[in-house]
Amino acid sequence: MEKKPFVTREQLEEITKTYPTPFHIYDEKGFIQNAKNVNEAFSWNKGFKEYFAVKATPNPFIIKKLKEVGCGVDCSSYTELMIADKLGFKGNEIMYSSNETPAGEFKYCADLGGYINLDDITLIEQMEEECGIPETVCCRYNPGGVYEVCNGIMDNPGDAKYGMTPNQIVDAFNILKEKGVKHFGIHAFLASNTVTNEYYPMLARDIFKLAVDLKNECGVHIAFVNLSGGVGIPYRPDQEPNDIFAIGEGVRKVYEEILTPEGMDDVAIFTEMGRFMMGPYGALVTKAVHEKHIYKEYIGVDACAVNLMRPAMYEAYHHVTVMGKEDAPCNHMYDIVGSLCENNDKFAVDRRLPKIEMGDYIYIHDTGAHGFAMGYNYNGRLKSAELLLKEDGSVELIRRAETPEDYFATFDFCDIMK
Ligand SMILES: *Cc1c(COP(=O)(O)O)cnc(C)c1O
Repeated sequence: MEKKPFVTREQLEEITKTYPTPFHIYDEKGFIQNAKNVNEAFSWNKGFKEYFAVKATPNPFIIKKLKEVGCGVDCSSYTELMIADKLGFKGNEIMYSSNETPAGEFKYCADLGGYINLDDITLIEQMEEECGIPETVCCRYNPGGVYEVCNGIMDNPGDAKYGMTPNQIVDAFNILKEKGVKHFGIHAFLASNTVTNEYYPMLARDIFKLAVDLKNECGVHIAFVNLSGGVGIPYRPDQEPNDIFAIGEGVRKVYEEILTPEGMDDVAIFTEMGRFMMGPYGALVTKAVHEKHIYKEYIGVDACAVNLMRPAMYEAYHHVTVMGKEDAPCNHMYDIVGSLCENNDKFAVDRRLPKIEMGDYIYIHDTGAHGFAMGYNYNGRLKSAELLLKEDGSVELIRRAETPEDYFATFDFCDIMK
């Protein structure tokens, strides 16, 4: 399948008159429609809520838009809770899914009235000390072993640091019940970036069975099942995208098969998707600024791994379009590289592309989630701006680019960089 940029070369020429490359740009129309689809796909479930995983795209302008279409937030740190707080998220609009939780964060979540999702049985004590025992608590489950979805997508919960073992989750529920918890949630995240409609339904089957067991064994009320994130996107043009309506329908079937006969048809379904919500609706726009012909053909661009770390970190594939040359033959082979003194700073390796001229805009697809957010400042390189392409076609600055002053801001306690 063809992967199409959501802006044209002409639009970029206009935009760059005000905002120089590199920048991440987000497609409001795309992510709002997608969020509406998610809500519709699960509308059969009365309590359904998507808690957008803030870590994927921690930009308050974007999260505010998602709030307007009914999304909550899944936070995992103090500063992410601050974003939720500032934007007016409250109570059951907040999920707090942390691990190795620093002191003080459960308290902040409890003050906002959010759900605490405990990653480990030992955190019960920390939570109780900080904020007492909430009426509703969620526990994270890890079944161990290897997790395989029908089409072979696999992850390795047995190697993952998250969640409680089956025995621990029974103990945790009993302890929490004893301490006065009235309602329980169960959370599990067993596979990442699954490009198959089978993942959520399979996961739901496992958690629903566990929910029935926990209800019967511990005599507790299960209020919600949190399917967490992991629904993927087609980074490669030959991948078939997930169909969220098929996924929602798949979960409904399993729900009616397992929960309904047990009289558990008040269980709310929660999701905490990040990648699926935003990934395809963001792009990193950069410009070809150098070419180098040694043992391979290199195109140097004005962005680097500081702006998008996934290729360097996981050798992740991101599709690349040379703007204005969408229909030109891909008769050149390039490595598209950034300026870091780090040989993994390559957005694309051995990529067949049209001939690139200096000044061409290089559009790196699918950077809307875990893109800007993973950035760092190695080599003293600065993070880019973020722009919002609005439904009416106008462009809004939603984060300015870093300046050297930002980079040196943590020396503001002294004069050394003044
Ligand atoms: C990262 C994360 C998510 C989002 O994952 P995606 O793969 O982006 O959907 C959701 N929940 C938790 C607890 C996470 O750590």
